Amino acid sequence: MSRTATAPSVQIPGHPDLKVLSNAPMSNMTTWRIGGPADFAVRAGHPDKVIAALQWAHDQNLPVTVIGGGSNLLVGDDGIRGLVIIARTPGERAGQLVSAEDLGAETRLRVAAQAPLSWVGRYCCDRGWAGMDWGVGLPGAIGGATVNNAGAHGTEMKDHLDRVEIARSDGTLESHDRAWLNPTYRHTRLKDSSQPRGVAVTWVELLLPKGDPARLKQLADEHAGYRHRTQPTGRCAGSTFTNPPGDFAGRLIEEAGLKDFAVGGVRFSTVHSNFIVNDGSGTAEQVLELIAHAQDVVLDRFGVRLETEIEPIGAFTGRRGT
Ligand SMILES: Cc1cc2nc3c(=O)[nH]c(=O)nc-3n(C[C@H](O)[C@H](O)[C@H](O)COP(=O)(O)OP(=O)(O)OC[C@H]3O[C@@H](n4cnc5c(N)ncnc54)[C@H](O)[C@@H]3O)c2cc1C
Repeated sequence: MSRTATAPSVQIPGHPDLKVLSNAPMSNMTTWRIGGPADFAVRAGHPDKVIAALQWAHDQNLPVTVIGGGSNLLVGDDGIRGLVIIARTPGERAGQLVSAEDLGAETRLRVAAQAPLSWVGRYCCDRGWAGMDWGVGLPGAIGGATVNNAGAHGTEMKDHLDRVEIARSDGTLESHDRAWLNPTYRHTRLKDSSQPRGVAVTWVELLLPKGDPARLKQLADEHAGYRHRTQPTGRCAGSTFTNPPGDFAGRLIEEAGLKDFAVGGVRFSTVHSNFIVNDGSGTAEQVLELIAHAQDVVLDRFGVRLETEIEPIGAFTGRRGT
């Protein structure tokens, strides 16, 4: 885990609020609290700011990685080369990042990538717009949820997504329909290429059927309560592995006797066996070692190859990172 001091910042010309930090520890930007320093990092709380940061990086000839809440990422101990754009905004400021159009039986909601997924879930439930309740209690932002096609409780991001807008590294803007995104289980075409991708999701449009606000609020509370009961809190990144067809990765890990199995400062959680928790001293190398061990044991015991849901990015000690 990096404890590198962040160096003084540089301001992107014309954008006083866009301060580019150099040598910025990614352990501060990820829910696992793991990851070495990015050469440069900038927080961009609005799509226009992301576009400005992309253009600055283009002028500086820097590769760009865009992240949201950092809740599905394993950043290597040697950090990330180039610029990391952190596209997220706290819930209390997210009201400026949504606009709605009443279409009669449904609502078209335009949401910036920075809006927290859980906040959007609550916002929609409170107004009686169905389809985003599943996001309540999940960490991360709408942009990351779109790239990952995140989902829970039987619904995925793709189910109510109508359009996605993206910005390329040279500042070119594109608008695409859902089919272009080609969403599948925890994957979209935006994940086809390796990092650094230099592409930013800026806005998404959702089509949400009208529902009963009281029932939707109750659903949201149930989802939040379920997470509280069944998932660890603290330094983790959600499900380590995707569920293999017809089974659950957590069940296989538990049956293989790996619940609470540790490598250094990281271990499979006792609350949810598919979650790896960091005691605060863990490193990315230790997470990779724990993952490889579980894959070997589960393959050997059950003949099932577990695939990672978390995404390793950046440079890993002794290996060539992205
Ligand atoms: C406790 C816990 C529970 C979780 N439960 C679930 C669950 O039930 N279901 C589920 O699907 N996931 C779950 N996750 C994983 C994660 O929260 C989701 O996948 C979330 O939607 C990721 O969003 P993020 O903003 O954190 O993305 P990040 O982790 O920051 O990034 C994910 C990917 O998206 C890219 N990205 C992010 N923002 C942008 C952008 N604006 N433009 C371009 N690329 C971008 C990144 O480069 C990366 O490839 C859980 C995680 C935790 C910690």
